[in-house]
Amino acid sequence: MDNVKILLSENEIPRKWYNLAADLPTPMLPPLGPDGSPVRPEILAPVFPMNLIEQEVSTQRWIDIPPEVLDILYRWRPSPLRRAVYLERYLKTPAKIYYKDESVSPAGSHKPNTAVPQAYYNKQFGIKRLTTETGAGQWGSALAFACNLIGLECKVFMVRISFDQKPFRKLMMQVWGANCVASPSSETNAGRAILKSMPDTPGSLGIAISEAIEAAVTDGSGQTRYALGSVLNHVLLHQTIIGLEAKEQLKKAGEKLPDVVIGCAGGGSNFAGLAFPFAYDKIHGAKIKIVPVEPTACPKMTRGNFVYDHGDVACMTPLLPMHSLGHTFVPKPIHAGGLRYHGMAPLVCQGIVEGLFAPKAYDQLKCYESAMVWAKTEGAICAPETSHAIAATIDEAIACRESGEEKVILFNYSGHGLMDLAGYDAYLSGKLTDYVMPESEILENLAKLAGMPKAEARKTGRW
Ligand SMILES: *Cc1c(COP(=O)(O)O)cnc(C)c1O
Repeated sequence: MDNVKILLSENEIPRKWYNLAADLPTPMLPPLGPDGSPVRPEILAPVFPMNLIEQEVSTQRWIDIPPEVLDILYRWRPSPLRRAVYLERYLKTPAKIYYKDESVSPAGSHKPNTAVPQAYYNKQFGIKRLTTETGAGQWGSALAFACNLIGLECKVFMVRISFDQKPFRKLMMQVWGANCVASPSSETNAGRAILKSMPDTPGSLGIAISEAIEAAVTDGSGQTRYALGSVLNHVLLHQTIIGLEAKEQLKKAGEKLPDVVIGCAGGGSNFAGLAFPFAYDKIHGAKIKIVPVEPTACPKMTRGNFVYDHGDVACMTPLLPMHSLGHTFVPKPIHAGGLRYHGMAPLVCQGIVEGLFAPKAYDQLKCYESAMVWAKTEGAICAPETSHAIAATIDEAIACRESGEEKVILFNYSGHGLMDLAGYDAYLSGKLTDYVMPESEILENLAKLAGMPKAEARKTGRW
């Protein structure tokens, strides 16, 4: 039997995070303020603690992971690298499929990898309380878990559709001591305004972000800050521990570099966490296909534009250079709540513009079919988000069967689906549908960005 579990011991854990900004062949465009000029980092100070802002703007290649953070991460890290031999046999593929199992964290996804350091740096800075948004509830529960261990209060605005579909995630947050409300809520100006104009809205991450930022910056004590679960540079940085471990583990398994690296992408953090350490090799000459996968119902990378746009509906965030469907876009209620976001991490987007990453989009039904194949071969029940990476992996493995190539495919198993069984219920009872995004709806939302500064798509042309 081949090794199907490739493990690292505690003392083999990476001690530094990898910052792709140090190696991007074309530098990222800066975030812009309301007046169209680059934001000075201090402007973000009411929202984030200064130590995290420093990480956000850093172009240093390696950044030390504080020992106190590692001490918490040891609860589940290094996470296993597994080989999906049972799926390989089922597909009759000569490809070798490896996956990084991030479902083993206490919250069940990759998100605690950044929740813990974010809570840590806030605590170091003297902050007492964090606010945040959550889609499917994964990020809210990860932050609740981290705040509990670090000793911070935690307030979560949860997208209404998930709040209703996934009551157990809310309970997890409560077990870890957080306070969770449905968004839009009546607790903020942003929430009240949206409830007035769209009382039946399913909510969106963009709306919930507006509420969480407002709740942080309007706290007169100055001891509340906001934490974001994806998109930002420092979040992606914290997630690179996944790819750095995977590199060591592939070596242990006797592999060189992978031929294909795949991750599902909502805001881009689990994809980036796995892919960036391999993007480093690609930049330095390795031939690796790197694929972020999104839902066809929220197709910012494959059908959106590379533009300057806000990260939230109420335009509270700076303008970020990213692939976007427009901050007013409200995605259809697909079950992969964590992928229902209008934009994408600027670091990932610059990689797409450069040609380092080749995004793909998959329909909801095809993803659930892949999740079912996974459950019936490998055994585990994956998160609806993760099923997008599995669908793309299966397609790559089938292509290898047809071409006879023994490629090494590596994907990120971003989380388990044990809190998302309602989606499986809808699939099994035949109620699940695909949502085709009409071009007119995309154009309508993008047209609203007409007055914004233009984002120049800079690339070397090497890929
Ligand atoms: C949140 C989430 C995602 C999407 O977020 P990214 O920042 O793009 O990684 C994917 N998978 C799972 C299981 C999640 O919880």
